[in-house]
Amino acid sequence: VPGLQQPPHLHRPRRRPRQTSSGGGLVAYADSQPDQPQGFKKKKVVVLGTGWAGTTFLRNLDSKLYDVQVISPRNYFAFTPLLPSVTCGTVEPRSVVEPIRRILEKKGGDFKFWEAECFKIDPANKKIHCRSNMGTNLDGNGEFLVDYDYLVVAVGARSNTFNTPGVTENCHFLKEVEDAQKIRRSVMDCFEKASLPYLNEEERKKNLHFVVVGGGPTGVEFAAELHDFVTEDLSKLYPSIQHLVKISLIEAADHILTMFDKRITNFAEDKFGRDGIDVKTGYKVVKVSKDAITMQNPATGDITVPYGMAVWSTGIGTRPFVVDFMKQIGQANRRVLATDEWLRVRECDDVYAVGDCATINQRRVMEDISEIFRVADKDKSGTLTVKEIQDILEDIYVRYPQVKLYMKSKQLNGIADLIRTGKGDTEKESVELSIEEFKKALSLVDSQVKNLPATAQVAAQQGQYLATCFNKMQTAEENPEGPIRIRGEGRHRFNPFRYRHLGQFAPLGGEQTAAQLPGDWVSIGHSSQWLWYSVYATKQISWRTRALVISDWGRRFIFGRDSSGI
Ligand code: FAD
Repeated sequence: VPGLQQPPHLHRPRRRPRQTSSGGGLVAYADSQPDQPQGFKKKKVVVLGTGWAGTTFLRNLDSKLYDVQVISPRNYFAFTPLLPSVTCGTVEPRSVVEPIRRILEKKGGDFKFWEAECFKIDPANKKIHCRSNMGTNLDGNGEFLVDYDYLVVAVGARSNTFNTPGVTENCHFLKEVEDAQKIRRSVMDCFEKASLPYLNEEERKKNLHFVVVGGGPTGVEFAAELHDFVTEDLSKLYPSIQHLVKISLIEAADHILTMFDKRITNFAEDKFGRDGIDVKTGYKVVKVSKDAITMQNPATGDITVPYGMAVWSTGIGTRPFVVDFMKQIGQANRRVLATDEWLRVRECDDVYAVGDCATINQRRVMEDISEIFRVADKDKSGTLTVKEIQDILEDIYVRYPQVKLYMKSKQLNGIADLIRTGKGDTEKESVELSIEEFKKALSLVDSQVKNLPATAQVAAQQGQYLATCFNKMQTAEENPEGPIRIRGEGRHRFNPFRYRHLGQFAPLGGEQTAAQLPGDWVSIGHSSQWLWYSVYATKQISWRTRALVISDWGRRFIFGRDSSGI
């Protein structure tokens, strides 16, 4: 479906939204352009979420082409990689957020923002149900309806408690700016409480036991930040109790930072050991009460330890309204929304999903490869010519650049050699390889293509890719013979999304960071810390936040972190 562009000479001033009543006492907001030629009506794009994926999409979208409505319960973008720094006052909360209206205003064009949350997607009627917490309508419920031509779901994920009893009630999460602020206050409360004159030693110890559950990048970074805060700043302010502080990091797997190179995992575990952070691997937390955490280990059985503050950071789960949407479209058995490689939600053509709430359904790899064979009319038995193999592989490379790498693998070696050295008439030269064998060799790809990680890097690249597709929709429609490589029913006009991994960091405290860069190049230590500073300063969304973050780092170097807890 094309996104039709309104020619500049027909551009009209923006109109106030028209309110139309609709079933269920909801108010529907629709922009009408009655006096405009039918063909030039802008398509309505609704974007849910102002996080990494949604904001990057909006920043890259050509605002002249669509009538865009943005809906999110928070009216700002948050630079999540710096949230652990906010928990200990290394960086101020205001330095990591940028108001979404400022971002939209800079772009100009037809953008509207509603501070509300979507609680239901109705794909059959192309409507979304929203609720605002800010005020109520005549029905007293603050609910309204928005209709769309295209919907971009970029709502991220929620913290996952794995239904562990007591976690929601007693633990902190580290997902939003408010979470980081609460943690900061709570750390200071624990220190102030432990300093009160009427407590005994055991009670002081309990209050100063900080437990971090989850040895992934966020948990590890928070533990390292907290350790630095305690040793560099709080130890001077609370000298009489500083020896009672204990930080525990609990991880169910055998190691922390398992998604990183082994060298980084080992270095982190050794460093935390030297720093006195108690890393408990192989322990699964099974219950959290107001005063104690119970964990299980096959060797030791259940252990219950008292704690003062706990931060839960064990992974992410799907938002309830997304689960409901998945049920409606037959994805009930999945963990997150499945999209194709063009980021369209499967079986739901005008809905796109980007970022943490979605994953590209890799189980389709073999189905796609089979379809390429079918389109090439080579899905029956027989042998292939070198030229036919080349054509099929080329189409596969467009979708799965990774396949090129696996051409080096043993099973595909023969084919690769043949293509490289193929001489003579490639049209006629056939290969001692049946179509079935070729497919079997390619099925390797299925096991090798991995799900993308839930990171800001993936979310931002997806947002950017999708905006590029939206910007080119009209051109693609006008030139149907354009860059389409694979035609046929249900196929898209653009090259599929390709993720470019730029590396990842794991700050470990004490001005040391581990960096794993493309090509499995690993760097650990102070130099990587400077790389971390420069990358995160560069990646800031505006000059304002860049200036604030850099000045926060400078302030911390000169004056230390603020311990007031506000
Ligand atoms: P988010 O950025 O979470 O945005 C979701 C948006 O949807 C928000 O605006 C939210 O308000 C909105 N929303 C929620 N519910 C609704 C609703 N019902 N209706 C409408 N809108 C809704 N990644 C890295 O690559 N590097 C890092 O160093 C890194 N560090 C991290 C540190 C922390 C503490 C955390 C929590 C995450 C970190 N990540 C990092 C991961 C990264 O933040 C996420 O992968 C990224 O935010 C995902 O982007 P997103 O747009 O999908 O979701």
